[in-house]
Amino acid sequence: MHAGAGIGSSIGTRRFLARDAHRVVGAHAQPERRQSAGRGRLRLPLAREVDHSLRVNETATDVLVIGAGPSGLAVGGRLKQAGVAFELLERAPKVASRWRDHYERLHLHTFRDLSRLPDHPWPLGVAAYPSRDQVVAYFEEHARKNTLRPRFEREVTSLRREGARWVATTRGPHGDERWSAPRVVVATGYNRVPNRPRWPGDEGFAGRVMHAAEYRNGREWLGKRALVVGSGNSGAEIVLDLFEHGATTAMCVRHPTHVSPRDLFGVIPTQVLGLGLGWLPPKLFDRLALPMTKRLVGDLSAYGITRPERGPMELLQATGRVPLLDIGTVELIRQGRVTVYPGIERFDGAELVFVDGRRAAFDVVVLATGYHAALEGFLDGVERLVDGKGHPTAFGEEHPDAPGLYFVGYRNPPTGAIHDIAKEAVRVAKSIADAATTPATTTTATTSSGTTPNATTSGAKRSAADPADSGKKPAADPADSGKKPAADPADSGKKSAADPADSGKKSAADPADSGKKKGART
Ligand SMILES: Cc1cc2nc3c(=O)[nH]c(=O)nc-3n(C[C@H](O)[C@H](O)[C@H](O)COP(=O)(O)OP(=O)(O)OC[C@H]3O[C@@H](n4cnc5c(N)ncnc54)[C@H](O)[C@@H]3O)c2cc1C
Repeated sequence: MHAGAGIGSSIGTRRFLARDAHRVVGAHAQPERRQSAGRGRLRLPLAREVDHSLRVNETATDVLVIGAGPSGLAVGGRLKQAGVAFELLERAPKVASRWRDHYERLHLHTFRDLSRLPDHPWPLGVAAYPSRDQVVAYFEEHARKNTLRPRFEREVTSLRREGARWVATTRGPHGDERWSAPRVVVATGYNRVPNRPRWPGDEGFAGRVMHAAEYRNGREWLGKRALVVGSGNSGAEIVLDLFEHGATTAMCVRHPTHVSPRDLFGVIPTQVLGLGLGWLPPKLFDRLALPMTKRLVGDLSAYGITRPERGPMELLQATGRVPLLDIGTVELIRQGRVTVYPGIERFDGAELVFVDGRRAAFDVVVLATGYHAALEGFLDGVERLVDGKGHPTAFGEEHPDAPGLYFVGYRNPPTGAIHDIAKEAVRVAKSIADAATTPATTTTATTSSGTTPNATTSGAKRSAADPADSGKKPAADPADSGKKPAADPADSGKKSAADPADSGKKSAADPADSGKKKGART
């Protein structure tokens, strides 16, 4: 056991030995696997935990969590607190690897206190919209505080149901390994694989084409001609970055796009609008919100940015496209310092030809064209679990078509992805912990994370060996967990506009819940 092993691990192990002779814990495990995380001790497998007839190199636990980004960390933290044993599998060598890899200029587009993991307030002194490095440090601190010990450099290459368990196969420097559990939380992110559109002639382009995922900064493009394709938040910020680095910058806006200032009247995060009014029917929401953003942003059609016919909430629900939260790009466009082009028709040598017939030469084209969750890359039978965009059709609860399978983090709602990740994680962890609850038991078992499970005092959690046994429907309201966050943003002197992540309250203002489950550009 590792990342979050708690009381459930010892009880779960015993239970599995009695019931499931085909399972093995540590039969051929490397010593590292039995490491008592946090104390640096090695715990060798107990004889009674080993069945030498069992599969080589398989670790059995109660829950597998795949991905140590914000979603996996949030779930891990909550499972840990509930004393549920789990393994956290991560392909990268560190937590929050995607955030580390994003371009350097990146800041949260959503308000700090509305973008936080459960029970983990932002430190004092961090700006309202923290930088990428601050975001990474925040996630690192969450993992440290919760003594999470992800299994790094384990890329899940296959996840399938075998009998009553989910079996993950990983590859990496540790070799091929198998991990199994009755429950699995998939938290590999909706931005797993960059979406790279192709155009006629692009293979002969004289300049460079890169996805936003590869873009680091604009230094090398000083004095060069750059085009950013895509009008999501990443695209708009990369435009700013290139401009600030002295590139002649243009933006390709392929679709009509809603634009809002990031802060209404310069002070209120637009995200608050989504939270406050998001419970309204989309048409009504749009009728109220649109006049305000129109007034604040004005008509940009003369510059090449038109408004969609549908309002922002309706559009989000239909297509998953969130409005662009402007942090200065629009002003550059208005000033004529950034040119807007429509869709690309084709590449032609060093030039691009646009659908309106204009053509222009570029040295670099940055594709801020979004990502795919690409769950089909490892999840067996995924077709019946996802929508047309490849996003899970259920999240924040057990998938109705796959016992023991949970997804967290596959939405990009107007309330902010991290905001909703926190809520989903609370619900999922509670659902899993509820299914695993047994009468109070006292144990002195040393967990692999080196912590004393809180479950010893508050009612032990055992491993839910078979989710089918539980028959439990996840609680709709995470507030039921009755868990008071360790700290609250209010403590910082700043009253957060809303913090459903902690209160666990099913916020009425959760438009994403009511809508189609589609991700979007960032
Ligand atoms: C550029 C950008 C800016 C964003 N800005 C904001 C913002 O301001 N506010 C906001 O609320 N949201 C924002 N988001 C959206 C969202 O909050 C982030 O994408 C967030 O990181 C999602 O967390 P996650 O854990 O679900 O996914 P990820 O952060 O993508 O983490 C998934 C983890 O799973 C691992 N993984 C993937 N596949 C495997 C595998 N097969 N085996 C093992 N491990 C695997 C990855 O290495 C990664 O560590 C932004 C997204 C992007 C791309």
